[in-house]
Order: sequence, then C-alpha cells, then structure tokens
Amino acid sequence: MIVMKFGGTSVQDANAMRNVLSIAQEYSGHKILIVSSACSGITSELLSIASDSVYLNDEDRIHRIQEIIKRHIDICNELGLEQGTVKQIEEIGSHLLSYCEGIALLGECTDRSQDAIASCGELFSTIILTGLLGSHLNLQWFDARTSMKTHDLHPGSQVNMEQTSLLSNQLLKPLFEQCDIVVTQGFIGSDDDNRTTTLGRGGSDYSAAIFGAVLEAEEIIIWTDVSGIASADPRVIPHARYLECMSFDEARMLSFFGAKVLHPETILPALQKDIPVHVRNTFKASDRGTTITRMGDETAYGMRSVIVRKPVSFVQVRATQVSNEHSMSELMKELEQLSGLKPMISVMIDASIGLIYDVSVSKIEEYVKHLEEDNNAEIGEYALISAIGPNFRNTNSKEAVKKFHEIIYGNDESPIMFSGIQKNTISALVDSVHAENILKEIHAQCT
Ligand code: ASP
Ligand code: MG
Repeated sequence: MIVMKFGGTSVQDANAMRNVLSIAQEYSGHKILIVSSACSGITSELLSIASDSVYLNDEDRIHRIQEIIKRHIDICNELGLEQGTVKQIEEIGSHLLSYCEGIALLGECTDRSQDAIASCGELFSTIILTGLLGSHLNLQWFDARTSMKTHDLHPGSQVNMEQTSLLSNQLLKPLFEQCDIVVTQGFIGSDDDNRTTTLGRGGSDYSAAIFGAVLEAEEIIIWTDVSGIASADPRVIPHARYLECMSFDEARMLSFFGAKVLHPETILPALQKDIPVHVRNTFKASDRGTTITRMGDETAYGMRSVIVRKPVSFVQVRATQVSNEHSMSELMKELEQLSGLKPMISVMIDASIGLIYDVSVSKIEEYVKHLEEDNNAEIGEYALISAIGPNFRNTNSKEAVKKFHEIIYGNDESPIMFSGIQKNTISALVDSVHAENILKEIHAQCT
C-alpha cells in the first residue's frame, strides 16, 4: 500500500483536485491511502472565525462561514460533481454554523471548539476528493477520527500510537479488500471520548507518516507544490537542483537551518519503520522529487546543499573572576529569562560561551547589556552559512570541507568558525555582505 498525502495547495481548487485525480489514475493497480489537508488557507480562516465568533455579530459571523461553504461548493460545481456531494458539504457547513453560534452564545471559544471547527476543513476537502475520484475509481471515504486516536490535550494533541495502530488495522485496512483507494483526512483525530482533536498546525504530514507506519505502507508520497528539497534557495540560486535522496538527519539539519519544505520530525514515525518518504510536486507530477530515508545514501559524501540564515546575532560572554561561581549555564538561563529567546546554537569553551540567536542584534542587545556588569559580553550581527551533506566525517569528504573553508576565508577575512565538523553540517558566521557570494561559490561545489 502507498500512502499519499496531499497538502493544502495540492487541493486548493478544482484544477488542483483534477491533478489529484490524474495522479491517482496513474497509480492504478496499487492500493492507495489518500490523506488530505484542507484547501489552502481554510484552516487558518476557520480558526480565526472560531475565535472571532466570541465578538462578531450574527450577520458577520454567518457571512464568513457562508463564504467558506461557498468556496467548497464552487469547487464541486466547477468539477461537475453530483448533488449528493454538495449536500454533504452543506451538512458539514451547518455543523460549522452551529459550532460558531455556540461560541457566540457562550462568549467563549475553548480549545475543543477550535479543534471541532478546524476539523471541518479536512472534512470538506476529502468529501470533494471522494466525489471527484469516486466517479472514476473504486474508493471509499474514511473518517480519520475513528482510528487516529489522541490523548486529550487540545490543541496539538499527542497521538496514542497503540490505539491508532490497533484501530487502523481493524477498521481502515480491511477497506482495501473492497476497494483500491481510501480517502481520509490529515490533521484530525479524536480522544478517548471520541471528541474531535487535531495534531497541531501542519499536522497532515504527521498523519500520513503515522498511518503509513501503523499500516506498514511500502512508501509515503508527500505531494506538495515544489519538486522536492532543493540544493539551495531557488529564489537566490535559480538553477538550484532538487536532491534525489537524503537521510533523515540531513533533512533535519536543513530544516533546522531554515528550509521550509517539511518538518522532518513529522515523518519520523515512517522513517523509524524504514518506510521511504518522497516529496513530490502535484503540479509537475513527472518530476522525480526527493526521497528521504532513515539512513540516506551511506556511500555519499561532500556538500549536497547550502543554506544561509540571516541576520543572526552572535553573543559571546566571558565570565570574569567575580562571576565565575555564576556558572555559564546559569548565565545562559538568565539571558533566556530576560529576553524570552532561546539560542539556536550554543558553544561552551571553558569560561566562555558563544550563543547564536535567530534574531537581529537590535532584538537582543539590551538584554545582553544587563549581563555586562559582571561579564565581558560581545555581540555582533552575522549571516550563518551552513553546508549540509551525508557525512562530512567520511574521509572522502575532506576535499569538500577544505573547499568550504577556502571559500569562507576567500570572501571574509574574519569569519567565525564555530561548529567544527559535524556529521551533516559545517557552518560559519560571516559578514552578511558576503553571504550571497559565499552561497553561490559553495553551491557550485555541491554535488
Ligand atoms: N490543514 C492543517 C493546517 O493547515 C494541516 C495541514 O495542512 O497539514 O495546519
Ligand atoms: Mg497545510
């Protein structure tokens, strides 16, 4: 079985939905579990209507909900779907109207109400997909809430893997004996009392990974609006390539340093079971995309991608005699309490500590000054450049590591090299004015 997750843009309108149909048709002969997000923008609008219902007047509240219902009915009509599908949309719509009326009457929007209202987005989109795909393919709609079980921690509930595995195998898996495709919702689940819960924003990838893991899928395809994970930001490097494969650790480092395609943590349940996860483009279905596996290509080496994060602030604190008893980690805590900011990277060397914050100097400077009385603190603004690769400790990566240093020093006479050589990253702090040039030169060395 293959799990296919379609993100918000992949089901955003009638055209996008048609692409889903043709993808499903291309995979005929396979058993496919389709896990869909809400149409793009819908979850955010639903959540905002939920909280605004506390103070909106009836007319405005109803108008905003009608707009959401209309967007979905318009898609049904554009796709020429049967009236039965439109009726189902209207039914969910009338629940939505009641939930929000409840909020208005009580003057309170609880986490539970938020979850119930947000869940309508995925219900709408999967009803439409079922209407469209069902007229061409043998399929069934499945309410994810019957088997995606979560603990009662609204919103962003934790998944109860044991229950989810049990119920998915009991209730969802047997459906494939009668049909080739099952359409279900990402993002939503239910607690022990069968009340609707959600897995937190962007939770559909997580749903797909969990369903894939518990049903032991052969593979998971995350269909989105880009052709995979790129070797650099295509807005800066237009000829950036899409990487064919990478390990979970590489994907995690890329996301840590700012790549936005997916949160690798969300696909962990699948990778732990050695199920490969492909990231592919619904709008360019023939593009290969990127495949993420637990181990990646273990024979690969060198730099594969490069990413710049800027501005970042680098705070270096040297404890003085007086404050030596005041340990460095306490200092770090103090700075965190004062500023509310957590460093993205911290390095401690003897009585000195280096902290990198993902903000401009102006956002942290004043807090650092508070520390100055007992300490020597220096603060500066930089660009953080990181090259990502499968294994920089591999001897075959030596050349690449050397090149990285050469390029950094060739552009900036006084960079700060701080991270040593990690397995999957080498990083440096450089003057922002050199960042783009360095990025281009490093990218030219990426394999
Ligand atoms: N629809 C949900 C959201 O927008 C979940 C998802 O799209 O992954 O957060
Ligand atoms: Mg989304």
